[in-house]
Amino acid sequence: MIVTRFAPSPTGLLHLGHAYSALLVYGSIKKGGDFLLRIEDIDPGRCRIEYEKAIEEDLNWLGIKWQKPVRRQSEHMHDYASALNRLDNEGLLYPCFCTRKEIIQARSSLAMDVLGPDGPIYPGSCRGLNPELIQKFKNEKKPFAWRLDMQKAVARVGELTFRDLDKGLIVATPEIFGDVVLARKETPTSYHLAVCVDDHIQGINMVIRGQDLFPATHIHRLLQALLGLDTPSYRHHRLLLDESGKKFAKRERSPSLQELRLAGATPKEIFKRVGLG
Ligand code: GLU
Repeated sequence: MIVTRFAPSPTGLLHLGHAYSALLVYGSIKKGGDFLLRIEDIDPGRCRIEYEKAIEEDLNWLGIKWQKPVRRQSEHMHDYASALNRLDNEGLLYPCFCTRKEIIQARSSLAMDVLGPDGPIYPGSCRGLNPELIQKFKNEKKPFAWRLDMQKAVARVGELTFRDLDKGLIVATPEIFGDVVLARKETPTSYHLAVCVDDHIQGINMVIRGQDLFPATHIHRLLQALLGLDTPSYRHHRLLLDESGKKFAKRERSPSLQELRLAGATPKEIFKRVGLG
């Protein structure tokens, strides 16, 4: 039986791209299965309860029904903290005290301009920092992030694969991201860590999400292996483009589902606009 989920972040109103994604996920259980809703609200500075309410209203309006209770990530920080702790106990993490400016400087002095799928790769300045210096920085209350020692992590698990329902069996290459941030001092998780922990806890065996998250799946496969979590099957759908050929985005002022709904659009019209009608 398929167990799948739609996992929006309540940092803005849903747009047509979200409707497309949610309807694809919902469509996957047409012949049976569970559809779960997960609210990815780990970032208290950007998430708002009114966006969360709007997400539920929009999905209801589109005729999408989900299992209760909804999992809100902000209520499960201890789950992510314990996963982080496990990685730390295995010697796979290190604290990184670099500011953005320091990272840019280090990259230019090392003539390191390697780009990963998420942008510039961290040059590793804090990897191997001596314990006294770490303690000194901590005593000074310098902010820090927990980074994964990617080389060590990859060596620990060996070659990994995941199943992409459109592309077939994919060999994961998380090393192209470098030492990713898995948590910050004030937020004990990152998107990557929380998603893997939650998909496992919620018994998700099929993840359907946008093509823009395909690179992230490589990191997720690694975290699943390191933490002994289940690996779902994946489908990375194309991104819906607006009239100007750009992908829909909250910050691009794409019309929100709420606006369209209040302007009198019907769910049927939305299905048509996203090519699923
Ligand atoms: N919360 C993510 C987003 O809104 C989606 C995460 C996922 O589907 O894995 O883009």
